[in-house]
Amino acid sequence: MVATLMDGTALGKRVREDVAGEVAEFGRHVGLATVLVGDNDASARYVRSKQRACEEAGIEPIHHELPESTTEEELLDLVGRLNDDPQVNGILVQLPLPDQIDEDRVIEAIDPMKDVDGFHPVNAGYLLQGRPILPPATPAGIMRILEEYEVPLKGARAVVVGRSNIVGKPVSLLLLAEHATVTICHSRTQDLAGVCREADVLVAAVGKANAITKDMVKPGATVVDVGINRGENGLVGDVAEVVREVAGLLTPVPGGVGPMTIAMLLVNTLRAARYQAEGLAFPVA
Ligand code: NAP
Repeated sequence: MVATLMDGTALGKRVREDVAGEVAEFGRHVGLATVLVGDNDASARYVRSKQRACEEAGIEPIHHELPESTTEEELLDLVGRLNDDPQVNGILVQLPLPDQIDEDRVIEAIDPMKDVDGFHPVNAGYLLQGRPILPPATPAGIMRILEEYEVPLKGARAVVVGRSNIVGKPVSLLLLAEHATVTICHSRTQDLAGVCREADVLVAAVGKANAITKDMVKPGATVVDVGINRGENGLVGDVAEVVREVAGLLTPVPGGVGPMTIAMLLVNTLRAARYQAEGLAFPVA
């Protein structure tokens, strides 16, 4: 068997075009503030592609760049101003932040209604309760691509490798909400290969090249590769190349989950703008 590749580039483009149409129909200004602190090259690249995607969708990118030496108070002050700015519908503080800044404090300072990354504890709590308001973009993108390829989830065995607040935990909750039977694995999981082999849907969010090898995949399984690892051979995911010989469906890296993340960020920004236009506030009734 040779896996069918799930094309996140094409689907992401379609989702972005749909958002552009909806923004035009919405008829109001929509703005996304991006905040980049320090000089991390990869972060700068991500922010640039998010800004470009905003522009194409008719969303105004409002960019703030702060030096590596920025203090936590300075960043919190900026976040406070963005919270109060009616031109700003969404706030994205690009992670990671320099060591002197506590990421959790910054995330908690963002108005949950403008938290388009979906990382604020209030948004995480709503997600846990199965009623997502602003779900994190990468997990939402994974769900959208699984939907597009009509991957059966109801009653399916889903295994997520990785338990971060950004990917592993939220995607597990979204899979659970679709009635999958979900197992979350991490660095202390015993017999990882055995657990993964039971998966109808395997999501790899580890951050290590070749973390998922051919013997860990049930023939015909759907494999979602979230990993972004920069090595000698360029960009690779967490899933070994040979997994293509056994999986049924597979997201490539690049061109799988990455483009979906950006597309869903735009979806969340428009969603946030609509909530604000409706006067929706937390707690949501
Ligand atoms: P993270 O916070 O570093 O979490 C990695 C997870 O993998 C942890 O839960 C860790 O377990 C687990 N892990 C590490 N080594 C393992 C092993 N040998 N066996 C089993 N589990 C292991 O990373 P993240 O933020 O979730 O991101 C994961 C990957 O996705 C990274 O490559 C990141 O760049 C990529 N990513 C891609 C996108 C995208 O748009 N495509 C978006 C976000 C992230 P412990 O908890 O026990 O340490």
